[in-house]
Amino acid sequence: MNPQLKKYYIFLGASLVFSIGIQIVLGYLGVPWYISIGLVMGIFILLPMIMRRRQMSRMGGGYGSNSGTGQGGGFFGTGSQGTSSGGVSYVCLVCNNKHKGGACPRCGSKMQRADF
Ligand SMILES: [Zn+2]
Repeated sequence: MNPQLKKYYIFLGASLVFSIGIQIVLGYLGVPWYISIGLVMGIFILLPMIMRRRQMSRMGGGYGSNSGTGQGGGFFGTGSQGTSSGGVSYVCLVCNNKHKGGACPRCGSKMQRADF
């Protein structure tokens, strides 16, 4: 298993435990379940996004990396598979690097054009 993915699963498990903890605490405080569930859902959606954003800026570049138009997002958008299917590759508009869709691995930019 690739270590990046393993880390992600560990993170998922940790956030699950974390959210259950939050629900218990909120329930204890008398917060209605629908509010605590909403809160936990928000955390579940936001945290992977924040993680991903941080990961991208760590990969260098930083230009368009958080321009908001991220594909996927949330839980299942992090997988490296999926976007790389098919024979289409992309050329980065920032550094001209050829890559397989998604953000540019060299500069992290999402500005790209398809190259058939
Ligand atoms: Zn690039």
